[in-house]
Amino acid sequence: MEGLRNVMEDTVFEKIDQLWKTTDYCQCNQCRMDVATFALNRLPPRYVQSNAGVVLHRFDANTTQTDAEITATVYQAIKRIGENPSHDKERN
Ligand SMILES: [Zn+2]
Repeated sequence: MEGLRNVMEDTVFEKIDQLWKTTDYCQCNQCRMDVATFALNRLPPRYVQSNAGVVLHRFDANTTQTDAEITATVYQAIKRIGENPSHDKERN
């Protein structure tokens, strides 16, 4: 929706990029979207008002869902998708 932004998405994608570096799992765009979908369906959305694409209030992970919870959920998603990717394993 115009003027609203779910900053949980930004947080999850940042976590995916951080945690993925520590694994050997496939990191193609398809897997990235699968991991993000898995994690975001298990975490509450966090909407902030944005103006002309600029986020006015950054999501503070420490005061809402804890950073540890988000990290654990994203890691679980990476493991789940990495061990059973939705595409053919042979291609990667
Ligand atoms: Zn992949």
